[in-house]
Amino acid sequence: MFVDIAKIHLKAGNGGNGAVSFHREKYIAAGGPDGGDGGKGGDIVFKADSNLSTLADFRYKRKYTAQSGENGGTSRCTGKSAPNLVISVPVGTLVKDAETGRIIADISTDEPVVIAKGGNGGWGNQHFGTATRQIPRFAKSGNPGEELDVTLELKLLADVGLIGFPNVGKSTLVSVVSEAKPKIANYHFTTLTPVLGVVRMDEGSSFVMADIPGLIEGAGEGIGLGHEFLRHVERCRLLLHVIDVSGSEGRDPIDDFEKINHELSVFSEDLTLAPQIVVGNKCDLADESVVAKLQEYFEAKGFKFFPIMAPIAEGTDELINYVASELQKLPPIKIYEAEEKPEVIVDKTRRSFSVRFDGTYYYVEDCDWLMEVMNNVDPDDYESLQYFERVIRECGIIDALERKGCSEGDTVKILDIEFDYVP
Ligand code: GDP
Ligand code: MG
Repeated sequence: MFVDIAKIHLKAGNGGNGAVSFHREKYIAAGGPDGGDGGKGGDIVFKADSNLSTLADFRYKRKYTAQSGENGGTSRCTGKSAPNLVISVPVGTLVKDAETGRIIADISTDEPVVIAKGGNGGWGNQHFGTATRQIPRFAKSGNPGEELDVTLELKLLADVGLIGFPNVGKSTLVSVVSEAKPKIANYHFTTLTPVLGVVRMDEGSSFVMADIPGLIEGAGEGIGLGHEFLRHVERCRLLLHVIDVSGSEGRDPIDDFEKINHELSVFSEDLTLAPQIVVGNKCDLADESVVAKLQEYFEAKGFKFFPIMAPIAEGTDELINYVASELQKLPPIKIYEAEEKPEVIVDKTRRSFSVRFDGTYYYVEDCDWLMEVMNNVDPDDYESLQYFERVIRECGIIDALERKGCSEGDTVKILDIEFDYVP
């Protein structure tokens, strides 16, 4: 079954916890802190695989979890980082944030893309044994790995898209100009999955043509079959709009043409921007004068018109040559830019916290906003630590601790870290 949309859950690996440990050696009374850092959690990475053509696998497996990093050990032993979890998807898969619809990545090149970042390992207390900063009981849990729901949307990569009502001869056209062999039959919706055909030109160049199932009225509003397939012509540089000039099914070709274009505009404004060439098929079933009139009509509207008889490849060479020359002038296949993640702004008015003393430890609590700050502090960087200290001083945490009686050497616990208080 052809599946071109899926929703899955991603959870990158958590970072391992940092260790609190102290160096022990014979004849040395009190060793310095030597707790190692936790290892990094595994990232979730997406990679394009040209052997895949549908997202069907994601219907059965919807949860993807990367492993966590190992905890730090004694003697400055850093925990092992977890391997990345690599997910293969068909070329042309868009990864979007399921909640906001933001495009995270377009997996259309060989470049693997990290979609969910593993958490960094927590710092072991080895970092805090310097003479200037004696807070060696300071060790931190690993940061959590990113967790999110994403929707995957396959948008095929094709230069040229075929559009038109069912049964007008789209599949027949693809089968005579490329090596692709889509199913052809005289009933509606024989094409149920998009088919890509490579059209090879004499001079060695080639382009890719996508045959998609025929559109019917109301497709753009999601009624009936067809709507979901428009996604596959969204990247196309050029559209071939195939009509049945003979009206062999009792419809009027001009009417068909307008209806399809209406469907395109309902589905996506972008689709109306792609240049269209009108292909008048089934010329063998129509009077020459009828074909000439249609040609006149479309040319007057600014469209190039090619009369063809697809099954015997009559007129297809002219069409293909023209398409190839137009493609040279058109921009390349659309690759979607990742959309920026909105910045999280820490609202100063939300910098609340509470301080509690249980007789042994001082606890700073109800300060979730501080997590964001702490996750970005680098313990090896003096400036970074100073920044952290400034933040907790500015928001009044230090004052509040002192008011509760906290003094040098007392142990303070903020969120998941603990340290010895040094005024
Ligand atoms: P699609 O639904 O648009 O892909 O149409 P198909 O390519 O499956 O063709 C539908 C039917 O029309 C098939 O029976 C074809 O053999 C027939 N057909 C396609 N092109 C022509 C043509 O130029 N002349 C005639 N007489 N029949 C055609
Ligand atoms: Mg078809």
